[in-house]
Amino acid sequence: MTSSARAYVLAMAAGIGMAISATSGQAGSHAVSENVVEVADGIYAFDPNDGYNSMFVVTDDGVIAVESVNSQHATGLLEAIKSVTDQPVRFLLQSHNHWDHASGGSVFREAGATIMAHEKAVEWMEANPGQDMVLPDEIWSGARKDITLAGTTLELHYMGMNHGLGMTVFRLPEEKVVYIADLVTPKRVLFTIVPDFNIKEWLRTLNEIEALDFDMAVFSHSNSGSAIGSKQDIAESREFITDLQGAIVAEFQKGTNPFAIASTVKLPKYEEWAGYNQWLEMNAWRVMLDMWMGPFPWQPE
Ligand SMILES: [Zn+2]
Repeated sequence: MTSSARAYVLAMAAGIGMAISATSGQAGSHAVSENVVEVADGIYAFDPNDGYNSMFVVTDDGVIAVESVNSQHATGLLEAIKSVTDQPVRFLLQSHNHWDHASGGSVFREAGATIMAHEKAVEWMEANPGQDMVLPDEIWSGARKDITLAGTTLELHYMGMNHGLGMTVFRLPEEKVVYIADLVTPKRVLFTIVPDFNIKEWLRTLNEIEALDFDMAVFSHSNSGSAIGSKQDIAESREFITDLQGAIVAEFQKGTNPFAIASTVKLPKYEEWAGYNQWLEMNAWRVMLDMWMGPFPWQPE
């Protein structure tokens, strides 16, 4: 990707909400600084306006950070943590395998943190080294792991295939907060060509996330003007996908030439969402091909 294309993609990922993204979107949360919002007691969202949001949890027995993104983002995240606590960072958790989320870990390793990711993410990382990505120190497997520090529990949920490998949804059961990477981006259509998403398994996962008990969500990407949202954002993303599938089926039923369907499909209900004009046709191609060929990518669990 050229640097201008990369800048464009990053700007779209950050989107229309960039200028006001430091403002809190949820009652109960409040801005600690320009880039940090306290979501709930001891739980913080970090949004440095680079298109990627992280989360960190402060306890009396150390800090857990989620999503280092890259070395520049990770450096800012570590500074943000130090601005609110003297506690050491005990863990850095990666949500999934992709380079654009799981890089920058060395910043936290040097600060003494243990880097963790799901086994399926780590297998990919070992096979596909990233320039700015270090391999995790600890690997977890299965559907669930809990980390408890000083009475605060962070649940790690692996829900199977959906996007990338080893995708982990994080939940704080007491505070009813979740962290969701890539699976939901409030107020934005699907990302470009919908890379590395299995649509069927994604919809299943979104239903499973909606069934979790939580009030607030921190999203790795958001176009709502805040990194923080709610269960409603999960429902809206799920509805966008099913609305797009419905519009494609309707064109098939009308007898529209399959090669003209992607450019024909319109979803005016979402025309205010980020990426609508630029990406809807790409979204439609990808979702149509998934319906046509069968779900991909896929692997046995
Ligand atoms: Zn990803």
